[in-house]
Amino acid sequence: MSAQAQTTTPERGLRTDPFLLEAQDLKVTFRAPGGRKLHAVDTISVGVRPGETVGLVGESGSGKSTVARTIMRAYEPEGGHIFFEGKDIAHLNERHLLPIRGKLQMVFQDPYSSLDPRWTIRRVLAEPLVAHNYGTRQKINERVDYLLKVVGLPADSAQRLPSQFSGGQRQRIAVARALALEPKMIIADEPVSSLDVSIQAQIINLLRDLQERLKIGLLIIAHDLALVHQISDRIVVMYLGEEVEEGPADEVVGRPQHPYTVALLSATPVPEPGGDNKRIVLTGDPPSPIYRPSGCRFHPRCPIARDRCKTEKPPLKEIGQARKVACWYAGEMPAPRDLWAMQGKALTAEELAGPDLRS
Ligand code: ADP
Ligand code: MG
Repeated sequence: MSAQAQTTTPERGLRTDPFLLEAQDLKVTFRAPGGRKLHAVDTISVGVRPGETVGLVGESGSGKSTVARTIMRAYEPEGGHIFFEGKDIAHLNERHLLPIRGKLQMVFQDPYSSLDPRWTIRRVLAEPLVAHNYGTRQKINERVDYLLKVVGLPADSAQRLPSQFSGGQRQRIAVARALALEPKMIIADEPVSSLDVSIQAQIINLLRDLQERLKIGLLIIAHDLALVHQISDRIVVMYLGEEVEEGPADEVVGRPQHPYTVALLSATPVPEPGGDNKRIVLTGDPPSPIYRPSGCRFHPRCPIARDRCKTEKPPLKEIGQARKVACWYAGEMPAPRDLWAMQGKALTAEELAGPDLRS
């Protein structure tokens, strides 16, 4: 598949209509042992329009799950807003959140621990329907049968227990459960990271298919930029709790501006027969969100950092339509394809087009 083939509309990633879900300047801190503050999420803003897919990427520990859980109100944000259909839900109590919960659903990373092993699949899928007074028993049963069909599971799955399903099938069940109440928005946190690589594409395709068919807003969270690119209209890149880059998916992957994004892309294995791996390797672990580096948080690991980066924090700046970056020297780090070009070897058409990130 070429990079063009997956572009659904010319405006992919360039819509300007209002957000369905918008986290605005979200700030979440935890207390670390010893009483110090752990800055898990520091003024992150991310919005998703109706029927839009937005990818949130970053290494493990960058705060992605905290963003998701805070939007789901498992945590109370220390600062910022969470607008859903224009209403700030950041501090609503559980009673007022209940009607919103049906419309805003989540799919988790681990389909093993997210399903009760003693419950039949019918009970798993009926439970949210019962809780929200969906209707008569017959209506609920019909809905369960429909949900199984929608996610591609056989009709007799309803009588079975989670243990009788593979990881990929369990994730289909989790998606079916998320769809039960006809949500307008789904947050999927690393939905395929625990699955075999061979199954990952099936679940990603299912999510993309459902999202397009049902016009659901989707926030997909993953550490794998290539995977997020497959499905997203727009991408937001996070580092150490902060946003470093944002833009239409093809732009962020095709013309990354932040050195961290370039490094994330370089981490994607590109098969190069006979050649060594010309990757920019991210050295060391990400710094601790308790003791964050001064200036640009990325400077200790950045190949192009200069003195200024150690002391002055680069603001998140607009650099074009729907495009933002937080780097004093944005665009100065060569993208992987340019690095290959600099090696002086002839480039194939595919290499010129950039890495095929969907293989
Ligand atoms: P990601 O999902 O990107 O891997 P997380 O949001 O899980 O990142 O974690 C971000 C940071 O917050 C990490 O340093 C993590 O250890 C810390 N953290 C996450 N949840 C909690 C919690 N409930 N209590 C204390 N620290 C937490
Ligand atoms: Mg996580």
